[in-house]
Amino acid sequence: MPADLHVHSNLSDGEDSPEELVALAKSCGLTTISITDHDTTAATTRAESLGGSIGVEVVPGIEFTTEAYGAEIHILGYFIDIYNAKLIETLKTIQKSRTGRIYKMIEKLNALGVNITAQDVLNIANNESPGRPHVAKAMIKAGYVSGMKEAFDRYLENNGPAYVSHYKLSPDEAVKLITQANGIAVLAHPMVSNRDNIIQKLMKSGLKGIEVYYPTHSPEQLEKYKNIANKYGLLITGGTDYHGKHSGRRVGLGEMSIPDDLVEALKKKYEYICGN
Ligand code: AMP
Ligand code: ZN
Ligand code: FE
Ligand code: FE
Repeated sequence: MPADLHVHSNLSDGEDSPEELVALAKSCGLTTISITDHDTTAATTRAESLGGSIGVEVVPGIEFTTEAYGAEIHILGYFIDIYNAKLIETLKTIQKSRTGRIYKMIEKLNALGVNITAQDVLNIANNESPGRPHVAKAMIKAGYVSGMKEAFDRYLENNGPAYVSHYKLSPDEAVKLITQANGIAVLAHPMVSNRDNIIQKLMKSGLKGIEVYYPTHSPEQLEKYKNIANKYGLLITGGTDYHGKHSGRRVGLGEMSIPDDLVEALKKKYEYICGN
């Protein structure tokens, strides 16, 4: 009964709609998925609706982009209450800042001779959580770069010439926000952020798990994070971080999955915390 607990839809920077993801999950034999879009929970109700009728379990999810110690740290939230007032209010602030940031990035790109408009980018995103991959797509469409990699390498990467930050929570704040919304906070792809010393600190704020299974984690790294999780009594999760067939990511939906018992442990923890 394999599961994928890290997938992005076109309501953030993925290519597939929530319904397409659920249908794709069904066709490749996944029994459970979580759509963990960046700074938005908009996919959840749509995915749950189709999942309920075709037999794919959808775990409500989100991925927060946070920042601390000069690094981008991503925090996943599972079984989060998408109607929680504080969550909704915070997401609105982040989403507004994400949109404003597109205008600032376009100003920088225009000064660098890349003549695309913010509206071009926002039309491509067509959602409430626009991001750098949408800027990259507008640049590709207008012929300024050949692909995503070139757009990031030359312009968009952190500290690149067209990079602009947006309002971000600290990892601590994200963990607390998820926890007060009855969600299970999990540190995403720990090797990517490479700040292991925050794990114990975040546990004090309510961190409950680590994303051990991730496509770019080597077998040694996987073992290391599994050991850390076991040592601290943290849940183990995993997923592909699938963004669509043309996103340039190495692993497709269904090509990597986690066993059902890890999902069961996650669910048990949620039920225990919420008293269900
Ligand atoms: P944002 O949240 O708008 O800052 O954009 C971050 C997203 O851009 C990440 O979630 C990745 O999907 C993507 N991304 C970051 N760095 C790269 C890169 N070097 N090449 C391709 N995509 C990237
Ligand atoms: Zn993304
Ligand atoms: Fe991430
Ligand atoms: Fe992700």
